[in-house]
Amino acid sequence: MRGRVQGVGFRPHVHALAGRLGLTGWVLNDPQGVLIEAQGSGVAAFQAALSAEAPPLARIDAVECEAIPPLSSETAFSIRHSLSAGTVATGIGPDATVCPACLAELFDPADRRHRYAFLNCTHCGPRYTITRQLPYDRPQTAMTGFPLCPDCLAEYEDPANRRFHAQPTACPACGPRLSYPPEDIVAALRAGRIVAIKGLGGFHLACDATRADAVERLRRVKQRNGKPFALMVANTESAIRHVWMDAGERALLEGVARPIVLLRRRDDAPELAPEIAPGLAWLGVMLPCTPLHYLLFHEAAGRPDGTGWLDVPQDLTLVMTSANPGGEPLAIGNEEARERLAGIADLIVDHDRDIVIRADDSVVRKLAGAPAFLRRGRGHVPEPIRLAHPVPPVLAVGGHLKTTVCVTRGDEAFLSQHIGDLDNAATLGFLEETVGHLLHILGVEPVAVAHDRHPDFQSTRFAEMSGLPTVPVQHHHAHVAAVMAEHRVEGPAVGLALDGFGLGEDGGSWGGEMLLVDGMRSERLGSLAPLAQPGGDVAARQPWRMAAAALARMGRADEIASRFAAHGPAEGVRRMIERGINAPLTSSCGRWFDAACGLLGVRAVAGFEGEAPMALESLVRQTRVADGTWRIDNGELDLTPLLERLLTVADAVEGAELFHGTLAAALVDWTLPVLSAHGMGRVMLSGGCLMNAILAEELVAGFRAAGVEALLPRLAPANDGGLSLGQAWAASFVL
Ligand SMILES: [Zn+2]
Ligand SMILES: [Zn+2]
Repeated sequence: MRGRVQGVGFRPHVHALAGRLGLTGWVLNDPQGVLIEAQGSGVAAFQAALSAEAPPLARIDAVECEAIPPLSSETAFSIRHSLSAGTVATGIGPDATVCPACLAELFDPADRRHRYAFLNCTHCGPRYTITRQLPYDRPQTAMTGFPLCPDCLAEYEDPANRRFHAQPTACPACGPRLSYPPEDIVAALRAGRIVAIKGLGGFHLACDATRADAVERLRRVKQRNGKPFALMVANTESAIRHVWMDAGERALLEGVARPIVLLRRRDDAPELAPEIAPGLAWLGVMLPCTPLHYLLFHEAAGRPDGTGWLDVPQDLTLVMTSANPGGEPLAIGNEEARERLAGIADLIVDHDRDIVIRADDSVVRKLAGAPAFLRRGRGHVPEPIRLAHPVPPVLAVGGHLKTTVCVTRGDEAFLSQHIGDLDNAATLGFLEETVGHLLHILGVEPVAVAHDRHPDFQSTRFAEMSGLPTVPVQHHHAHVAAVMAEHRVEGPAVGLALDGFGLGEDGGSWGGEMLLVDGMRSERLGSLAPLAQPGGDVAARQPWRMAAAALARMGRADEIASRFAAHGPAEGVRRMIERGINAPLTSSCGRWFDAACGLLGVRAVAGFEGEAPMALESLVRQTRVADGTWRIDNGELDLTPLLERLLTVADAVEGAELFHGTLAAALVDWTLPVLSAHGMGRVMLSGGCLMNAILAEELVAGFRAAGVEALLPRLAPANDGGLSLGQAWAASFVL
């Protein structure tokens, strides 16, 4: 059997099933997965139940069966030792939250693990972030320094026990310890302190979400530039006081991966500090993902016995944000935390179980009816993405912002956790470390390194210094290829890449592209009309500059100074645009969004790229279309008339609704004739703009109405976090 079948209690499951059905034989872990020999009259039922009753963290990809002659010598069913020879082809699972059985023990005063912050079992707990190398055995994990006590050892060796071969198992007698008891941590949080808490993939910074003073201070010391903070609450019942959710969103929130889920805020929610997610209609919410988190909520609830309190709303609401000051990677070491978080955290809660590899929280949201990643990390890494066919081993190193790397092995692509923006040495170091760790635990020796075409990206330099053959893949080509890879689309396909910035084939700044992609070939069929980007990169954080460029395009440059003098050097910007000095042209969809924001006065100056469009999306209640406000000429889609129309709206809400609805309608109108000319019934949608739920939904609905299937990124982020997957897939066609 292939899939995630090791380290998840699969052999005990097989053993128990065989016992129930009276079979004889054996089961063992081998390099391909799990190998079973079984005989008896119940073999057919056994085969069916193997998958149907699989343990909670197992994932079965393939079952291969072969009949062998009966063995008369067998009298029982046994679990045999692992075969470790040969290549290690099975993966290690992602980290998972506390399972119901462990939760019951955690709050049972009679249990020896009562209130023990490191309990786990075969069905839950840390995996990827504590594993140094494969095979996944205790000595290869961060638990190597904690020899099992006699009680834990007995559980570990008993096939009937939930902790049979649970590598990270521990108890208060033999396991890791916390540096502070939960009562001290909760007292500090209640007093408005900022507490650094060591989690699964790194430290979080936490504070009481109802204390405006604490949240404001957290924002200041973390230099977070207005990026929204996520909340952690005890349970779903506590979450639904703050946000709306449907059954699918609830399942995401409660899933064992425990991501941050972006959910629509309620107007009637209990009051939270205003600085949490200023001006945004969505809140990031997550449930506890470690026993320690549960203990904090338990403490705040007055330490009740049993788990009944987890079914009722709880008061304590925490801000939980990655402890990555200054945009550097997440802190994971105890010493490192004391150095880097000094002056930020009032209290640092750590423990003596090492984090081997850092992993930020995953962030997901529902997009056009199904889940999509905004950031892929803890709980999902190193889950492979299945490809349409086996490919040579490739390493792909992503772009510059929100970087991830990707390694292929056979027909699997392993996308790394979120690494971050490669604009500091520490993040570049994290990239190198992640590449090394992934290649090591996967046992892959890449034959080539795929990278972005941009010569100045640190990721490109990393690829060039690798000593391996390099394959440059154009940015938007990689975006479209990433969607094709995960949806296993083979052959040519038309894709829209709606993005912030990527270097084009012609050396220009691209970001609103229609491409025909076939493996390593890509043809630009069209693009959004170019806007000047006065000041270059700075315009990505100053939407008023893009609005000025749009005014110039309308022939209304004389209004720039009067409209935008309050935001910056409006006269200078006008001159830049008119003379074409330091105002490169860009076809970026993100910059067209910025222009709309600037014209509507929505975050005319923003703290980070994408902040203004997020605020614009938050204003939309019901999209509308302003017919006749786009032009299509020779493959180029020009939205200038739409922006001119935005100057006449009653308020920013009307403008946001018109912009989203019309942009989607225009993109569909632009694409449909091309699809029919190519005889195609589907289109790939990709790029950071597709994280906008309104735009994604309108596009999918618009295409569907015309009988076209629109495929969105689901397993990799739509933004540059998914680039490495597309690079690896595209490059595989020339290797
Ligand atoms: Zn458990
Ligand atoms: Zn123990």
